[in-house]
Amino acid sequence: MSAAPATPRALPVRDLLAVPLLGALLLRRRTWQIAMLVASALLVWHGLVGPQLAPKNLATLAVWVHYRGLLILALLVAGNLFCLACPFMLPRDLARKLRRPTRRWPRLLRGKAVGIVALVSVLYAYELFDLWASPWATALLILGYFAGATLVDAVFEGATFCKSICPIGQFNFVASALSPLEVRSREASVCATCSGHECLTGAADGGARGCELGLFVPDKAGNMDCTFCLDCARACPHDNVALATRLPGEELLDDASGSGVGRRSQRPDLAVLGIVFTFAALLNAFGMVSPVYALQRGIAEVLGTTSDAAVLGVLFAACLVVEPVMLLGAAAALSRGALTGRPGLTATVVRFAHGLVPLGVGIWAAHYGFHFLTGLWTIVPVTQKAVADAGLPFLGQPRWGVGGLGENVVQPIEMGLLLLGALGSLAVLWSIARREAPLRPRRAFAPWAALTMLLLAAAVWLLAQPMEMRGTFLEA
Ligand code: SF4
Ligand code: SF4
Repeated sequence: MSAAPATPRALPVRDLLAVPLLGALLLRRRTWQIAMLVASALLVWHGLVGPQLAPKNLATLAVWVHYRGLLILALLVAGNLFCLACPFMLPRDLARKLRRPTRRWPRLLRGKAVGIVALVSVLYAYELFDLWASPWATALLILGYFAGATLVDAVFEGATFCKSICPIGQFNFVASALSPLEVRSREASVCATCSGHECLTGAADGGARGCELGLFVPDKAGNMDCTFCLDCARACPHDNVALATRLPGEELLDDASGSGVGRRSQRPDLAVLGIVFTFAALLNAFGMVSPVYALQRGIAEVLGTTSDAAVLGVLFAACLVVEPVMLLGAAAALSRGALTGRPGLTATVVRFAHGLVPLGVGIWAAHYGFHFLTGLWTIVPVTQKAVADAGLPFLGQPRWGVGGLGENVVQPIEMGLLLLGALGSLAVLWSIARREAPLRPRRAFAPWAALTMLLLAAAVWLLAQPMEMRGTFLEA
């Protein structure tokens, strides 16, 4: 197998599918999915019948502390591995054997609007129902994902749930812009002479399906909408699909037209997804620190209501709609005069908004990393106890009392992730400014750089506050 890049790149390209054993393991998607399905079943069972104390329940601990930490870590060091191993696809694929979907997802809903609403809804439900503290609600959420993926994809063709609805998928698609790996062709010349296009249409013998997300490998640009399922690699008769290394964030720098996605500057929905992703990172961290309670009390007094749902709704609207509209609108108003053709405010926002994604990833990574690292080993005794409760005591007596890394160790890591994210955003925004305003790039860049620094300052302040500890309380 060749590891050569399809087009010249600044960095040497490695193809992980060409690495012996590793490549074979990556292509064994079903094995990973079955392992995740077994783990999911254990979580649901423990969430429903296990102890309803969050740090001692496998559902809450694994989902809200370890899964989220590992998810963002995997995205940063590799790519969309959790979509690759997604267990929701197993019952969905089984249902499709019984009934082939015949309908197409409505054209009006094909962008990211539904996915954005679903992502915000899950974040809203997380805060409103304290999902992190409720094992049974967490178990129901997992079951809801299984049911949603199965029902939607039993009716609609393609990977409708993954591409347009799944909140985890939308999160992964945005964050994977910063991943160092990308599915692409090995040799452009091989694709140029390929007539079957099996990576898209499926293997001629029906042994492997093509890309259900509508991505044609030779025209694919970046990780948006790619679940790393590697169906394309299994279907390609020329063994011409690579899981290749690349410069993280590279896809945010240019405005190339990618198969199934198009040009970012022509996709306002992708810009909104990136904006919601970034501001939700701040909001989600804000929900963990004590000033949020004072603010919520203030909102309740002003509204004259005791409804948590209403107060939280106002907080979400302020943080995910009003604040971004004001801040990005101001940055766009100040920069658009320098842009070629002096585009409108919305068009300016759509072009620059992707530059904020690296900072958003940094904030999510710092926040999730805090819970993951401070509760690192707590998963061990909780798993021992859950497996023993299931009648399989082979993991031994639970070793209660273990914790994780100290806050004095974790805080510098958090700050480092924030700084890296901000530097990444500044680099991407500078590239966008040079592309959109070749004559006056500094003038176009300055407002967006100021916005980045403002968001960085907010994130540093938030993560320097004492956080609610989740998953670190463990006594016998
Ligand atoms: S099937 Fe293989 S060779 Fe043909 S276009 Fe797709 S990746 Fe290229
Ligand atoms: S291009 Fe399509 S088939 Fe290939 S890994 Fe990505 S989502 Fe899967």
